[in-house]
Amino acid sequence: MVLAGGIGGARFLRGLKEAAPDAEITVVGNTGDDIHLFGLKVCPDLDTVMYTLGGGIHEEQGWGRAGETFAVKEELAAYGVGPEWFGLGDRDFATHIVRTQMMGAGYPLSAVTEALCARWQPGVRLLPMTDDRVETHVLIDTADLADGPQNDGGESRKAVHFQEYWVRLRASVAAHAVVPVGAESAKPAPGVLDAIAEADVILFPPSNPVVSVGTILAVPGIREGIAEAGVPVVGLSPIVGDAPVHGMADKVLAAVGVESTAAAVAQHYGSGLLDGWLVDTVDAGSVQSVEDAGIRCRAVPLMMTGTEATAAMAREALTLAEEVNA
Ligand code: GDP
Ligand code: CA
Repeated sequence: MVLAGGIGGARFLRGLKEAAPDAEITVVGNTGDDIHLFGLKVCPDLDTVMYTLGGGIHEEQGWGRAGETFAVKEELAAYGVGPEWFGLGDRDFATHIVRTQMMGAGYPLSAVTEALCARWQPGVRLLPMTDDRVETHVLIDTADLADGPQNDGGESRKAVHFQEYWVRLRASVAAHAVVPVGAESAKPAPGVLDAIAEADVILFPPSNPVVSVGTILAVPGIREGIAEAGVPVVGLSPIVGDAPVHGMADKVLAAVGVESTAAAVAQHYGSGLLDGWLVDTVDAGSVQSVEDAGIRCRAVPLMMTGTEATAAMAREALTLAEEVNA
């Protein structure tokens, strides 16, 4: 069983499938990044996993469809209808139309995801973390916004949708808090708690520890289920050499008071949750401090440069899982 965000989770899963071709893999996907745009329900992380494993992903970009065109977006812009900062292509639009139509007909997101996967055949069972609406919001200073209200010297903060923070603002301003709005009253989607209870091993891929894995763990029952599952829980660090490999995870780690180091992320998850943790070879110096925190740790190459390198990472994670089980 794997908890996954978008790009980091999806790419790792591709390696895991290669490393364990006969394994039944259940993926619990983050839905805190979901957003309603143009009346459509968009689930970026679920779609990234689905497209990546189903062969439809834009490889270099890591999200969105290969061979994409943007006629609909251009036509919307001609009507002055935005947001212009979120890149929805024509092919991708079809996914969101189907999803929104099914949800309008009363199907829960989990059923819709299964229906979408019937086309993509990702080779894993993909479950949203919840069927309930959860939306990650980020608290920022309005004074940091160029087009925000004039700062009169008083402190003024506002919560923006995660996508506005991440995509429109490129995480360029400080995040003071990250709040998965709705998580506290959300229920795990059907199948999630069973998958946790029946898993032989639980993996945290190198996904964002705050807004991907952290959001999934914020759904009541999921963290507790994992901690009590009695099976090895092994994570791979998304932080290599004291910085995120891609993206801006350091900004949201700072918001929860966690340093951007492989060891700090392990301690943030904690030994109550994690049994094993992989850091990159450049962070070999932090292995001891992770072990001192009660988490078995190894330093191995953690750069997902291709499927073979990623499969090797997955094998290391499974080996560490066997080790902590012994
Ligand atoms: P998102 O939802 O698209 O942001 O994707 P995830 O949450 O699944 O993963 C994002 C994280 O993946 C980032 O914090 C990156 O640091 C991490 N990441 C991306 N590529 C690599 C890689 O090759 N190796 C490692 N160790 N981490 C990576
Ligand atoms: Ca995401």
